Amino acid sequence: MFSFSVTATDKQTGARRGRLVTGHGAVETPTFMPVGTRGSVKGVLPSALRATGAEMILANTYHLFLRPGAEVVEQLGGLHEFMGWDGPILTDSGGFQVFSLSELNRINEDEVEFASHIDGAKVRLSPAIATAVQNKLGADIIMAFDECVKLPSTRERVRLAVDRTIRWAAQCLEAHKNEHQLMFGIVQGGTDRELREYCSEKLVELGFGGYAIGGLSVGESHDEMIETVGYTVPMLPADKPHYLMGVGTPRDLVAAIGAGIDMFDCVMPTRNGRNATAFTRQGKMKLRNEQYKLQKEPLDAECDCYTCKNFSRGYLRHLFQVGEMLGPMLLSLHNLHFYQWLMNEARLAIDENRYGSWSSRWLADD
Ligand SMILES: [Zn+2]
Repeated sequence: MFSFSVTATDKQTGARRGRLVTGHGAVETPTFMPVGTRGSVKGVLPSALRATGAEMILANTYHLFLRPGAEVVEQLGGLHEFMGWDGPILTDSGGFQVFSLSELNRINEDEVEFASHIDGAKVRLSPAIATAVQNKLGADIIMAFDECVKLPSTRERVRLAVDRTIRWAAQCLEAHKNEHQLMFGIVQGGTDRELREYCSEKLVELGFGGYAIGGLSVGESHDEMIETVGYTVPMLPADKPHYLMGVGTPRDLVAAIGAGIDMFDCVMPTRNGRNATAFTRQGKMKLRNEQYKLQKEPLDAECDCYTCKNFSRGYLRHLFQVGEMLGPMLLSLHNLHFYQWLMNEARLAIDENRYGSWSSRWLADD
């Protein structure tokens, strides 16, 4: 059911084009997955999301595990039916949220116990539970439960997380019972080359359907992140998808594609959209600024999204000034459209072996 093939490689950079086939359709890579945290990409209808060019989306195991619970999603037909998205879906493992959102009570060899960020209730999550929950949710691609450490951290702390991540990865593979789902392993190791190498080696020995680089965009600089991605990707099997988790800005994406990354997810286009910030071909725009009050032109004259075809900057600014919900919806839609446009341009550039020259203008941005 699953296959991944690299169809073109840029000669000057490490950028590559590929195609990932799942039981719910194929995905052209490099791809950007919009984030449907709690089973919804905030403020965007699935049909509109599809029209942006999005092929695969991400949902968060941690959030769905707490509410409504994996059993509820399962009884309502599984994640695809539940959220009205018949394309490919990926669920993360919950590891990132457990270690970033909640108050940890206890962590040991086999499980973590934490206080729910919603009501403080005690909840346990382990490699076996995270895998069983994802088996029930029913996404096409699922992730091994890992420990993600915030940076900067001591080497000892990162090392401890790497050891746990490796041990847990084996337990996840063993617990994985749904053959309609492909499981990816997550390489941890902060910005420490040796630890990344050690973690990659052990995960590759275990044998996953794809490999993610986790634990980045957690406090380090753009340059540190790209350097880490640059040396980690060659440690991973070339014939499997490479996924950089939770990243990032257009510049981050373009740089990481150049290092050989195939998949991304990030809340940035929707979160920024809700906060009145637009990504455009001319850079970021903060729509609340007075300067846009009387501007009749669209956000981005070259963009063919619904928002840009129908509304002025002045109108969009007005919606945010008075708190109309249409403002966040229209801006999220535009931003998602922009991210998909960027991925499409990147894919074309790789196909035509000009990724280096195409990417240079984006790499100069911040
Ligand atoms: Zn637009």
